[in-house]
Amino acid sequence: MIVFAVLAGVFGSLIGSFLNVVVFRVPAGRSIVAPPSACPSCGSRIRAVDNIPVLSWLVLRGRCRDCGAAISIRYPAVELGTALGFAAVALWRLPALVDAVASGSGTRIAAAMLELVAYLYLMAVSVALALIDLDTHRLPDKIVLPAYAVGGGLLILVGILEGDGWSVLRALIGGAAAFLLYLLLGLTKQGAMGFGDIKLAGLLGLYLGWAGWSSLAIGVFGGFVIGGLVSVALLVARRVKRDGGIPFGPSMLAGAWLGLVAGPAIWTAYLRLVGLA
Ligand SMILES: [Zn+2]
Repeated sequence: MIVFAVLAGVFGSLIGSFLNVVVFRVPAGRSIVAPPSACPSCGSRIRAVDNIPVLSWLVLRGRCRDCGAAISIRYPAVELGTALGFAAVALWRLPALVDAVASGSGTRIAAAMLELVAYLYLMAVSVALALIDLDTHRLPDKIVLPAYAVGGGLLILVGILEGDGWSVLRALIGGAAAFLLYLLLGLTKQGAMGFGDIKLAGLLGLYLGWAGWSSLAIGVFGGFVIGGLVSVALLVARRVKRDGGIPFGPSMLAGAWLGLVAGPAIWTAYLRLVGLA
């Protein structure tokens, strides 16, 4: 179990290193494959040995090997954060993987692996979108739209392998419902929702619907609760003006992950609380 989480974490740190490039270049409309990474100060190419996630930054003590310019702590922080996110997703999916392996069915094992990939992909997309939204107040189509195809495609494939048409249908309903809810809010409360938020809502609804009705309810509602708490906290701390515009994407993403991982448990606890279960 530890080995599995560590492997996922190491893989996540490599993805995090790539996400640093994505977060920097996609909003600027630049290619994410070329040119290779270079020091922003002196322009020298980053050597392979200096491109090891987190460790290189520590070894170089946060400075460029060539010119000594400071390298922001944000880079290793994103790599470490993505590593922890991937390890957490791996641990969360582990019981399902173990069940699939124990069943001895190749199809079920393949389905469980693909489902893990679908959630790791969502984690990578979440990190990239949260950072870009905080940086630029935008959720680029270049990331959100392909995620519908990749995430939706993977989940549909899992549904086919497991003969689980209901989960696929629930995913489609969840995606449509979340998209329409945000569209309605965007139309009625001018300026409350950007169109980027509306498109992201559809993607998150897809995943949440796939996971289950309680995940969908908690995930969507959780986004509003977290967003509200963040707004109040920032207002109290006087970090923003009343209409200062706080990016909502990070709260939506946090709510969705809460719904995915803890939705059923929170839903059951809520029903007990109100005496319905
Ligand atoms: Zn340099």
